[in-house]
Parts: sequence; C-alpha cells; structure tokens
Amino acid sequence: MPIELPQPERCAFCHVDATSRWAAIVEELDSTCAFLNPRQYGMGALLVIPKRHAPTVLDLEGAEAEALIHHVRRLSAALMKAFDPAGLNIFQNNGISAGQTVPHYHVHIVPSYPGDPPGRVFQGADFERTPKEELERTAERIIAQLAPFKA
Ligand SMILES: [Zn+2]
Repeated sequence: MPIELPQPERCAFCHVDATSRWAAIVEELDSTCAFLNPRQYGMGALLVIPKRHAPTVLDLEGAEAEALIHHVRRLSAALMKAFDPAGLNIFQNNGISAGQTVPHYHVHIVPSYPGDPPGRVFQGADFERTPKEELERTAERIIAQLAPFKA
C-alpha cells in the first residue's frame, strides 16, 4: 500500500529560513535544519528536517539519515542543558494515517517536564501557535547551549 501524504499547495518546510514569518531557527547545518515547533508541545520543542525535500523516512538518503540523527542528538544535549527537562520524546510520522501533517520528513524533539503525563500523544490541534518573538527567545536559550564544533 503506498503511503498517502498531505498535499498542500506548497511545502512549508522547503521554505524555512531566517526570513520566515513563523520559524525561529535554532541551527542550520550542511544538510539539516532545526527550528522551534510553532506549536510548543513542551517548552523548547524542536523540529529537525533535511534541507532537501524528502517526504518520509523511505525517501531519505543514507547520509541524510545519518546527518539527521547526529543533529537530533546534538540538539537534545543542548535542550537538556537549556531547560533541564525530565525526559525527551523523539518521534516522526510517515503518512496521513500515522499523523503526518507536513509532507516533508521531520523529527520532533519534545522535552517533558515533571507533572507531564507519561506517554503523551501530541496533536497539533491541541496546541496554539506561539508567536515568533517568543519562539526566538526560546531558540536563543537553546543556541547558547549548543556544543562548539571541534576545529
Ligand atoms: Zn519540502
């Protein structure tokens, strides 16, 4: 069975950059980009994408998949330092039936905090969009904790 994808007029994640009206960029690397999820499932919730348009995990090239997980790990370490969460949910959805709403591969990193119910399921509709100015303040706190790259 083919994976059915959402069909927006244009792909929102192909147009994420510093000039975006809604995306607060945390870090852009050679083939990946991380930004705050406008719907903050938890303080600091991030999305990590390949810069190339690839709809699902099945469309990733090996090197992209590798770069993505390294970036997820790097960002997770910064999130832990920035906000001291009690845990992290890291997940991604492939296909409408799995809950994918943007047809461009993306990994969610969602910090969880004391008092959050364990094993939460996140629905975008349950969370209001956070204004970009507020997202940028959150991004700055994560950026400040990113490990330096070794020269
Ligand atoms: Zn795209």
